[in-house]
Amino acid sequence: MPHPCRGGDKAVKPANAHLQLNKAHFPVTVLGPGQRIGLWLQGCSIGCKGCVSVDTWERDPQRTVAISSLLTWCKQVAGSGLDGVTISGGEPFDQPEGLRHLLQALRLWRSQARLDFDILCYSGYPLKTLQQRHARLLALLDALIPEPFIDSQSGVLWRGSSNQPLVPLSPLGQQRYAAFVCAPLQEEDKRMQVAVEGGRVWMIGIPARGDMTRIEALCRSRGLTLEQVSWRR
Ligand code: SF4
Repeated sequence: MPHPCRGGDKAVKPANAHLQLNKAHFPVTVLGPGQRIGLWLQGCSIGCKGCVSVDTWERDPQRTVAISSLLTWCKQVAGSGLDGVTISGGEPFDQPEGLRHLLQALRLWRSQARLDFDILCYSGYPLKTLQQRHARLLALLDALIPEPFIDSQSGVLWRGSSNQPLVPLSPLGQQRYAAFVCAPLQEEDKRMQVAVEGGRVWMIGIPARGDMTRIEALCRSRGLTLEQVSWRR
């Protein structure tokens, strides 16, 4: 099974069981509790000032993947233990049909395999907007981190700015996330993961203000220039 970001089986059945994917990674340990699958969808129409994932903004048909292929990859990488799936972007709710198919497929896998991983989703849309427009999608999630990123506000655990609540949405979500809803950001929570895949360096997690500039300066001081970065257009 090839990595889902590098193509492979593009067969799409039914016709709408696909989505545009920027990146998939396992294990992710900085966006929710435990060892998680991270799925970053491609395309975001919100455009928060200071977003560090500008590379996810443009819709890109070249990044279309079949959800069946994505699930096959998830099942393979999760063999060594899976606590959760984190869906981010990009803006997942800008692909409501694809997101619905993905969530249904994840939940079916979870129940058939008798697993207990939770499903956490990020969104830049306000909670009220999601409740009005996407109640059925919210019913498929265990926890949600909504609201746009605000550059002038400091980050909190797993969130880029303090206006973004952590909202448990299911009994499993309550069990896993209730203790973290108001948890202060500890020094050990300020972690970023680094992964090298396909000749690219991925930094995973929530950077503090100025972190990316500091990383660039540190790389430069060691003779490494970062030319194309996701935090600048
Ligand atoms: S922070 Fe998220 S919602 Fe805001 S522009 Fe970036 S990808 Fe979109």
